[in-house]
Parts: sequence; structure tokens; C-alpha cells
Amino acid sequence: MGKKRTTEILVETKLVTTIRRWTSVHAYCVACDANVKMIVPDQAAAAAGMSITAIYAKLESGDFHFIESSNGQIRICLASVLKSSIRFGESKQLPEPPH
Ligand SMILES: [Zn+2]
Repeated sequence: MGKKRTTEILVETKLVTTIRRWTSVHAYCVACDANVKMIVPDQAAAAAGMSITAIYAKLESGDFHFIESSNGQIRICLASVLKSSIRFGESKQLPEPPH
């Protein structure tokens, strides 16, 4: 039981480290009414532990916020991904990026 919990924490720590290494793209998210970190669908899938198909379903349902760049690339609001991610749940929060 305790062993399983430890593994979960390790996975989360690794994920947070991974997210922090990603190239930061900040953009204004209308839904959040804030400048947030925007990630590509591949990264969202990794962060949420979902398949790409599930990510697109979330985009369509409005669970995940996204913007489309001028060249047609989808950028997903990381805050919305983490908010609805089971893995991060209630108490987990990413550290604020330095301003
Ligand atoms: Zn948002």
C-alpha cells in the first residue's frame, strides 16, 4: 500500500520536472482570463496521462482550453489540463513560473 503511494509520488515528481523542461509558450487564455503556459497536444497527453484522441475529445467538449496559432497549430492551456487531470487531483499544483 505504502509502496504504491511512493511510486505515484515519483511519477508525479518526474512529470513536474518534465513539464518544467518544456519550452515555455505563454499566451492569453480567455477561459482562465490570464496568461498561461500553452502546450502542444502531445505534451497534454503526457501531462494528463491520456491518449491524443482523448485530448481532442476534451478540447471539443471544452474541458481543455486551447488556442489556434496563425499557422494552424493547436496550443492547449496547461492550467486546464492539470485542473481536469485525475493525476494531479485536488491538492497538486505546479509551482508558479517566475515572472
Ligand atoms: Zn485556460
